[in-house]
Amino acid sequence: MARDYYGLLGVAKNATDQEIKRAYRKLARELHPDVNPDEVAQAKFKEVSAAYEVLSDAEKRRIVDMGGDPLESGGGAGYSGAGFGGLGDVFEAFFGGMSGTGATRKPRGRVQPGADSLLRTRLSLAECAVGVTKHLTVDTAILCDVCTGSGTNGNSKPVRCETCGGAGEVQSVQRSFLGQVLTSRPCPTCRGAGETIPDPCHKCGGDGRVRARREIAAPIPAGVANGMRVRLAAQGEVGPGGGHAGDLYVEIVEQPHDVFVRDGDDLHCTIRLPMVDAALGTTVVIDTILDGPTELTIPAGTQPGEISVLRGHGMPRLRSGARGDLLAHLDIVVPTKLDAKQTDLLRKYKGTRERDRAEVMSAQSEHNSGLFARLRASFSGR
Ligand SMILES: [Zn+2]
Ligand SMILES: [Zn+2]
Repeated sequence: MARDYYGLLGVAKNATDQEIKRAYRKLARELHPDVNPDEVAQAKFKEVSAAYEVLSDAEKRRIVDMGGDPLESGGGAGYSGAGFGGLGDVFEAFFGGMSGTGATRKPRGRVQPGADSLLRTRLSLAECAVGVTKHLTVDTAILCDVCTGSGTNGNSKPVRCETCGGAGEVQSVQRSFLGQVLTSRPCPTCRGAGETIPDPCHKCGGDGRVRARREIAAPIPAGVANGMRVRLAAQGEVGPGGGHAGDLYVEIVEQPHDVFVRDGDDLHCTIRLPMVDAALGTTVVIDTILDGPTELTIPAGTQPGEISVLRGHGMPRLRSGARGDLLAHLDIVVPTKLDAKQTDLLRKYKGTRERDRAEVMSAQSEHNSGLFARLRASFSGR
């Protein structure tokens, strides 16, 4: 049965952290081994300390409130911290596992499911766009081909573990102020399996699986992005005793592209346009990833920083026919080296635009005087 941690500290189920701390301190003053060397008091001090450890930890207290016991499972009366074992406890408690029920526990058996594995693979932007089959090498555990997972040699059979009598766990009795307390831990001989193999397979030593390097063809769908994981069911490690294999996850590491920057399903690029082309309009050709050379029309009078969009020419959306857009950021290039003839032409051009220039200047001065007027108003308003 789950221990009554609230009862041990003598606090209500809805006690605040402060009340729990106060109750523990009061009991500790009476029971601490330095103060009270009595054996019964020491046993009680241990129980009370365990109760405080559990109830002062929000996560552990939640498990207790759900009917579980965060200290009961695996390593016996372990007052240790969380760690990975602690995670197992949490899952047991959440899924209404065996923890705390105290009912008959079955030996966990020799055959266990295998672990999941994770591999990372680098993909170019083009590979992400079209999808690809990646050939990967993975060091993993595979079924032992000599015993096909049984772990036994020839026709020999596993036998019931003598240490635990097949229960998979051993129990010990501890005296405490509550009377006798039964604690159990996994059997050290069979490691919880309940049976042992007297004549193990010579290749795998009874484990039913062996380490091996495998070649895997991983199908990567079009539209994947950096950090996504593709799951290959049952391509992970084979479990102890030949238990069914875990899954293999392939994580995508997308390599940066020379021209295009990805933002979700959209692609961005920068196009440098000569000043005259921006003024007169032109057509440029973009070498897209999926559609090859594609024309982009630049209208006359294009300004620096404007964006031209090729709808539907971005990345494919995962598991959908849709596509993102391609956005071309237009950078206008002013010529730096002009010969005498070009300089002359631009001077002549300038002469034809004197009126425009005057307009631009007057617009600028209007803008400025407006600005000064606002500034004056804000100062005089103080
Ligand atoms: Zn055993
Ligand atoms: Zn074997």
